[in-house]
Amino acid sequence: MINDLSLFRGPPGVERAREIIERMGKQQIPTSPANYEIWTTHVAGVKPDLSREIEARLQRGEAFTDETNEELFERFFANTRLSIQMLETSETIARELDDTVSSLRGAGGQAGSYAKVLQEAASRFEGGVDSAEFRTIVEHLAVTTHEMVESNLKLAEQIEAQSRQVEELQTALQSVKVEALTDGLTGLANRRMFDETLRRRMNDAAADSSDLCVLVFDIDQFKRINEAWGHALGDQVLRYIASVMRAHAQGDVLAARFGGEEFALIMPRTNVNLAEALAARISRAVKSKRLSLKSTGDVIGEITVSIGIARFRDADQSGDLAARAEACMLAAKHGGRDRIVTDAQLDRQSAA
Ligand code: GH3
Ligand code: MG
Ligand code: MG
Repeated sequence: MINDLSLFRGPPGVERAREIIERMGKQQIPTSPANYEIWTTHVAGVKPDLSREIEARLQRGEAFTDETNEELFERFFANTRLSIQMLETSETIARELDDTVSSLRGAGGQAGSYAKVLQEAASRFEGGVDSAEFRTIVEHLAVTTHEMVESNLKLAEQIEAQSRQVEELQTALQSVKVEALTDGLTGLANRRMFDETLRRRMNDAAADSSDLCVLVFDIDQFKRINEAWGHALGDQVLRYIASVMRAHAQGDVLAARFGGEEFALIMPRTNVNLAEALAARISRAVKSKRLSLKSTGDVIGEITVSIGIARFRDADQSGDLAARAEACMLAAKHGGRDRIVTDAQLDRQSAA
């Protein structure tokens, strides 16, 4: 993990980020979150073993293949998930870059308009003047002005080029961040994005006493699908369910892959009735699709989901809400699967 964040703050931070991305580019290393973490750590010099290993490879002129990168990550970052700190760092850098770009652009604009004023002045001086001496002075002024215009235009060009470079760096950082928060298989938000969003939404709901619901979906008997048709087809089914979730998550609803074959929705400003109605629609959509194998035409059969819905309560600590939605989903399993259970129902059951 990066434990000295000050290394990445302010203009030196931008420089360092540029350096890291440039160095990765030189070795043709994709800017995945894991690779970025490896190289950021290396440049920060906080893992001497890692740095020694990288330097040795560089000296031997070895290529950083996907296998090498994975091996480095496994070896030096085993059991450490990509750190939130890392994300915060990239956010800090992105903010710095924003400032840098706007100040560069400002300076560029000024240089450009200064150039224009000088040019206009030059054209005025070139008008008919009688005195020979005065003409000489004017000519001299015109030449000097022209030179200044040229050098200002060059400066503006340099500034523009630099702004573009900074923007490229920003895009690279953005993609690092997007990747770190996205589930690779389905393209939905991953668990970390879910956790971060939920924390924010819980704060909002507490602040303005609005409704907030969390829905957890678990595919029924998914193991059987894997066993009967193979893991690759199981993956396809996960992608299909993700597409249904995505299609139903409108506005500020977040759809996430919650676990292996579990999905979740965070629904701000939504009461339980609306959440239940959406859950029922998704359940019907999943069930109605007749999935079949393209190659053989074999019908895979109906897929169902068990759904748990929990509504935010003021006393909820981070984690409570999602845990309660999960408990509801498990109650739906015990109740026979292919159904929806809300936390209000669960409370009534346990009171009876
Ligand atoms: P239940 O109705 O009780 O939920 O039964 P289940 O078989 O769905 O439950 P269980 O949790 O026992 O099994 C989940 C399975 O999901 C186990 C695991 O192999 C599979 N799985 C998890 N992640 C993936 C994945 O990324 N791809 C595929 N193909 N299968 C996965
Ligand atoms: Mg499960
Ligand atoms: Mg399951």
